Amino acid sequence: MVSKKMKEMIERSAALGAMFTEGKRLKELYGEENVFDFGIGNPNVKAPDAVNEAIVEILREVDSLQIHGYTDGSGIPAARQAIAESLNRRFGTSFSAKNLIMTVGAAGGLSVICKVLIDEGDEALTFAPYFGEYDNYVINAGGTLLAVPPNPPSFLPDLAALEERITAKTKAIILNSPNNPTGVVYDAETIGALAAVLERKEKELGTSIYIIADEPYRELVYDGAEAPYIPLYYHNTIVAYSFSKSLSLPGDRIGYLVIPSEVDDFADVAAGAEIANRCLGFVNAPALQQMVVARCCDEQTDVAYYDKNRLLLYEALTSYGYACAKPQGAFYLFVKALEPDEEAFCEKAKKHGLLMTPGKAFRCPGYVRIAYCVARETIERSLPSFQALAQEYKN
Ligand code: PLP
Repeated sequence: MVSKKMKEMIERSAALGAMFTEGKRLKELYGEENVFDFGIGNPNVKAPDAVNEAIVEILREVDSLQIHGYTDGSGIPAARQAIAESLNRRFGTSFSAKNLIMTVGAAGGLSVICKVLIDEGDEALTFAPYFGEYDNYVINAGGTLLAVPPNPPSFLPDLAALEERITAKTKAIILNSPNNPTGVVYDAETIGALAAVLERKEKELGTSIYIIADEPYRELVYDGAEAPYIPLYYHNTIVAYSFSKSLSLPGDRIGYLVIPSEVDDFADVAAGAEIANRCLGFVNAPALQQMVVARCCDEQTDVAYYDKNRLLLYEALTSYGYACAKPQGAFYLFVKALEPDEEAFCEKAKKHGLLMTPGKAFRCPGYVRIAYCVARETIERSLPSFQALAQEYKN
């Protein structure tokens, strides 16, 4: 028998996990060319050439024992220093290697930081809709994740509702901007107001409340939007970053945590992160990939490709009568289902070859997520199906 905790995780994770197999099943049923899979956030833009070139250079230049050997638990010092300097150039911060922990993607970083901060019985808060894995990271650390209800149509954080839910048990707020699944980018005013709430609550309760800023989509922003760098706004911020989306390297499993020196209990948080990396079984982030991102952390993906997909899909869907906030970041549209039960809506959509993720997976029923990190042609060919689906509800 699996543990009770795992049993709950299995049930909770079903909706998102199913997306990986559902696309294949539908393709077998209807034929490859008749299925439009918008289910998964797997980048379709290739990694910049510089990434493969760096791999070849490293293989030629660096000792094989180093490439394939264990690294420090917190990562290769030179890689951490190179990334710290890149962040300093971009954000005017003064990080050094000691503030960086290389991780197995953002998922690894989030698991590590939850393990470091959360005791049995502690709580973390986040804003629905949210990436459903957050539950697993927090539960795995012994805590409970509580969600502030969704705030449509803007989907900006409801700060009054957050404040009501903060208690002496609140260890962390997990914040994700640009957001999966809404594509909303939190502006500077929102982040400033959030920081003010947390500072007030820390004083009132005499506790430390950390923001865990989950930022795999930081670089994927459109219409001139900018995601404020949260450590500049709030002293207790830890950033979980990943190259999965920004350099299209999701399978390479590489990211990092930024633990600024200003955070409460800095020395223990940093030491704990190294230990958590080991005891969660990651041991260290992949050595070759640490070397690659040290060389490529200033490279950029083809954001314009996603932007064109975004505009094409957003404009078409809204013209067919779908309601959706215009996303300014990430590569998702979060669309109101055309009936209250979004799972029933997704089933009807499948009959048109359209695969989308039900809002339930993000704790926000009534909506569906459409991942537009797909070939342009897939979007173009899918539009008649979206139109026919909308028409079905009008008839
Ligand atoms: N956080 C969010 C909001 C995500 O959407 C994802 C992946 O889709 C992750 C974290 C995990 O990303 P990684 O591949 O870096 O572990």
